[in-house]
Amino acid sequence: MTRIIWRKIKDLLINPYVNLKTEYYDLGLPERERTSDAVTIEAAKATARLGVAVKCATITPNPQRVEEYNLSRLWRSPNATLRAHLDGTVFRKPITSEVLLPWVRSWKRPITIARHASGDVYQNVEYRATGPAKVELLVTATDGSEERVSVDTFADGDNGIVQVVCNRDKSIANFARACFDYALSTGEDLWFSAKDTISRTYDQRFKEIFAELYEQEYRDAFAEQGVEYHYTLIDDMVARVIKSEGGFIWACKNYDGDVMSDMLASANGSLAMMTSVLVSPSGVREYEAAHGTVTRHYYRHLNGEQTSTNPMATLFAWTGALAWRAHLDDIPELAEFAKALEDASLRTISAGIITGDLRSQYIGENCQTVTTDEFLVAIADRFERG
Ligand code: NAP
Ligand code: MG
Repeated sequence: MTRIIWRKIKDLLINPYVNLKTEYYDLGLPERERTSDAVTIEAAKATARLGVAVKCATITPNPQRVEEYNLSRLWRSPNATLRAHLDGTVFRKPITSEVLLPWVRSWKRPITIARHASGDVYQNVEYRATGPAKVELLVTATDGSEERVSVDTFADGDNGIVQVVCNRDKSIANFARACFDYALSTGEDLWFSAKDTISRTYDQRFKEIFAELYEQEYRDAFAEQGVEYHYTLIDDMVARVIKSEGGFIWACKNYDGDVMSDMLASANGSLAMMTSVLVSPSGVREYEAAHGTVTRHYYRHLNGEQTSTNPMATLFAWTGALAWRAHLDDIPELAEFAKALEDASLRTISAGIITGDLRSQYIGENCQTVTTDEFLVAIADRFERG
């Protein structure tokens, strides 16, 4: 479904105004199958080379998709490939409007999630243990010396599962710097949360690296700008977030960020009202919608139905990418265009023209639920009128 929305956004709102000189990489399943997924690596390399990319939602195949698309194997998530390649941090921020009420009553300003997009359970090693067996972690240094750490002992008939995860100091430092820089660029406080009381080496290392970098590189700049940095335990943070007024950045480890960003998106109203940008340490950015391909709507579309799928997150992926291109190449007209398009879409919602997913949280007067096409035309009208 997002491919269809993508096409419509380009035809109606971008191509008539911008001479796009984009390179195009097709991350649809047939092309990934045809190239043995080399196209995803090509896309990652092009992103690094060009400095900015905008990505349409893609399918991460499961066994059902293998059959549906006749795949030779379960290709990995293209997002995981892109993130691993760019070693980035994903920032997710809700798109808010005064006519849309978040489900959490106290929230007055958007909360941005900063997700470390590298390592942990996403690049883990898993093992099914069959007892009787002793599970150990064996570390072999380059000089051949060995160190063993006992993990667990499985008795006869006592079967189970084992998981090994890892991360690198350098990647964690990149994550921390991306968060500190982002906090300074937005003027919002930064909170980092983990579980160092339980994970006394692993999560503790995250906490230490954040603290060291803050002291060495950021304390003065934060003080100057009146921005604060805090560390707290993840469970304490979850409780704080629900009672807060919002308006801060919440830095999360990879899995926490995955889960919490979806919680935040739907607590704000809709998955389609959430922007997502991957920021690499070298300043490369990849913009996308936070939601998936909206399969259920697609099957309705195939049945000839006009759907009311919300294009906001995909549209904001485009405007975000264009604004970053404008920043990199110093093209103020392009930055103004991106801003004007976002304004036109927000004014459309304020005027009560919305897609179905926003109906239950709409608090303005006279609301009209429209199809995706009608919604995009309403944005185009407002954009033209200025
Ligand atoms: P999804 O596409 O995000 O959709 C889940 C549900 O959320 C939809 O059925 C719809 O609810 C609602 N929704 C999401 N986006 C919407 C929009 N723009 N407008 C209106 N409603 C919207 O998640 P999924 O169905 O679990 O996954 C579908 C495919 O997307 C999978 O193949 C998955 O691998 C892929 N995926 C890709 C990405 C990515 O590329 N970044 C992320 C997540 C998932 P209703 O049906 O109730 O209207
Ligand atoms: Mg997720």
